[in-house]
Amino acid sequence: MTKLIYPDTLSISQTIVHARSSTRKSWPKQILPRQNRMPRPISASIIPAAVSHNIDIVRKLAPRSHVWSVVKTNAYGHGIERIYPALAGADGIALLDMDEAVRIRELGWKKPILLLEGVFKAEDVELAGRLGLNVTIHCEEQLALVREAKLDSRIDVHLKMNSGMNRLGFTPDAFRSAWESARAVASIGDITLMTHFANADEGDVSWQLDCFDAATHGIPGQRSVANSAGVLWHKDAHRDSVRPGIILYGASPSGLAHHMADFGLRASMRLESEIIGIQNVGAEDTIGYGRTFTPGQPIRIGVVACGYADGYPRHAASGTPIAVDGVLTRVVGRVSMDMLTVDLTPCPAARIGSRVGLWGDQVKIDDVAAASGTIGYELMCALARRVPVKTVETA
Ligand SMILES: *Cc1c(COP(=O)(O)O)cnc(C)c1O
Repeated sequence: MTKLIYPDTLSISQTIVHARSSTRKSWPKQILPRQNRMPRPISASIIPAAVSHNIDIVRKLAPRSHVWSVVKTNAYGHGIERIYPALAGADGIALLDMDEAVRIRELGWKKPILLLEGVFKAEDVELAGRLGLNVTIHCEEQLALVREAKLDSRIDVHLKMNSGMNRLGFTPDAFRSAWESARAVASIGDITLMTHFANADEGDVSWQLDCFDAATHGIPGQRSVANSAGVLWHKDAHRDSVRPGIILYGASPSGLAHHMADFGLRASMRLESEIIGIQNVGAEDTIGYGRTFTPGQPIRIGVVACGYADGYPRHAASGTPIAVDGVLTRVVGRVSMDMLTVDLTPCPAARIGSRVGLWGDQVKIDDVAAASGTIGYELMCALARRVPVKTVETA
């Protein structure tokens, strides 16, 4: 085995300087201003106008309900600051990270903000009070944190029931007494009764809704139960307020794009890149790592500057839809870290520099997700930091 030996008169850092200066004397401190450096030809576009359009659609679908726009996870990967101007039409904003709540207040939001998971520590309660946040209370421990906090003004809460999701919330049996305890806390103002659906995207929610209605019977207060799937498919679940997330960004809560065809929602995120290489591949040749794809006939392959390190799913199977110069085609072979490969058969005019649509209006993020064994939510949230993002004013 070879062993690296540094000259013993030099420290490691001196060795590096030494090695570099032996190839070139010095580098200029700043070679080019940052904005003039050429990035890879990949970018994401965020379209706030699509979000405001989608909020209008939610309003039409649930005309009697308050709309709380869910912007957790940095607005589903879009960037809270980028889409903030599009939220003006919402009645409230829901999220779960205190830092995001602070950012929303700093942007000037005067209307309610709901912390969907409530508070985690005693200090959070006081900060929530100062920021005028509405906090979820889903267990006795959280109720105790609010009861024990010294607050200057009252804090509104969402009291959460576990009606069958079995994640957060008081059990139906414990709910009434939790509500009575909360009502007895002097610093608690309005109490909204809340629950969350487990399978509103697949069909029946009545098993949870009936449970919620029975356990809250006679308790005063507003009701909040519907997520995106509830907004689209369960009118009886709209109640006093709705909490849409994914549909604000134009993707499907069921993971299936065709479920969304009739609603007129618009995609608020586009991921685009370019062809950076072309190969003519023989019928029996293979493409990419693992040699997973053999074309069976000679084809022209385009290499796209986009890989899993950009947030494109590595599990995207051969056949995943993708657009080249506006023509629909398919991914072939494995997605690698920085590149993926596409079949150029349907687009013979494609060349280096041709535009590639990874997802957006033409290629649905839901279809890319479905071909990768996941959902649009995950792809949006996983957009990598290295991808340059721009805000596009018109859709
Ligand atoms: C994330 C979340 C929502 C929004 O869900 P979508 O499926 O994106 O509409 C609503 N309510 C709660 C409690 C959530 O955590």
